[in-house]
Amino acid sequence: MTTTVRALRFAEKDRVSVVDAALPEAGPGEIVLDVKAAGLCGSDLHYFHMTHNQMQNATQPRSPEMTPGHEIAGVVASIGPGVTHPSVGDRVAVQHYSGCGTCETCRKGWDVHCENARVYSLNRPGGCQDQVIVTAKDAVVLPDSVSFATGAFLACGATTAYQAIQRSEVRPGGTVLVIGAGPVGLAVLTWARALGLHAIATDPSPQRRKFASKIGFTDVYDSNNFDISTLRAERADVVIETSGNIHGRRAALEGVRTWGTVVFVGLGPGFDIDPVPDLIMRQVTLRGMFVFSVPLMMEAVREVEKHSVDLDPIITRISNIEDGPAAFADFANGSVGKTVIGWA
Ligand SMILES: [Zn+2]
Ligand SMILES: [Zn+2]
Repeated sequence: MTTTVRALRFAEKDRVSVVDAALPEAGPGEIVLDVKAAGLCGSDLHYFHMTHNQMQNATQPRSPEMTPGHEIAGVVASIGPGVTHPSVGDRVAVQHYSGCGTCETCRKGWDVHCENARVYSLNRPGGCQDQVIVTAKDAVVLPDSVSFATGAFLACGATTAYQAIQRSEVRPGGTVLVIGAGPVGLAVLTWARALGLHAIATDPSPQRRKFASKIGFTDVYDSNNFDISTLRAERADVVIETSGNIHGRRAALEGVRTWGTVVFVGLGPGFDIDPVPDLIMRQVTLRGMFVFSVPLMMEAVREVEKHSVDLDPIITRISNIEDGPAAFADFANGSVGKTVIGWA
């Protein structure tokens, strides 16, 4: 049996449309989710700016027939054969890399590195549709205190931010410098505040700095005129680089103290390191980090509840699916904060 749902599609370069899409019944190990929130993320924008031909030939190719939105949260509407968890009615968010479930890396929860992983919105339908088929093991149950919009954010950027702090091994009371005040950078600031760390950030965009200040992060400085030595006697214990650009990466190395750690999170091309001054003489540790494991997402969800981590202020817009084309256009025009397609 197949039903029809409303779905967003990349209709052509720089334009999204609403179409009717087929939704099959949940197969073995699958669930049908009533989508409640689907976050728009940088990778959606990456494909938004492509022609269908460019999309099919991209480094990570995708079919134009795939619904965008890999940050998914919703309510389990029905379950397929063999599913014992989650249950109908559960509120869940979805880890967006869906591995085979049986290889070694999947069994550690690192579906991200599974050779046969499928990614929601890339090679299986994403969340910008009324209902979506989800592999049951990808679903993480959300407590009632966590909104669907925050749940969707935890399916990508907000758990990435949580993990960046964990991987930096910053000690209690330590200073975190965040490069970039986009949604991931703001999520790092939110986690840092909740965990009692000192956090400062830089961003070249006046709009982003103004927004950060509006939601309570006043230590966000213009990266074009930033010199950490004018702020603090010591450079930062850890730096979390979320911008993915060369200048941001350089600033990260310049901002970290001797024995400090830099975590590279932002995606983007190119960067030169000179090992002697950058790393060796200052005993600096560099870490790369990509997405997260399912257990780590479960931990982030628990921590949000335990510390009442309030990520909702970062979400600036919740649009219904009919307004999806306008939401995408505004997102592409550099809207601040996080945009989510939401269902009542
Ligand atoms: Zn994302
Ligand atoms: Zn696997």
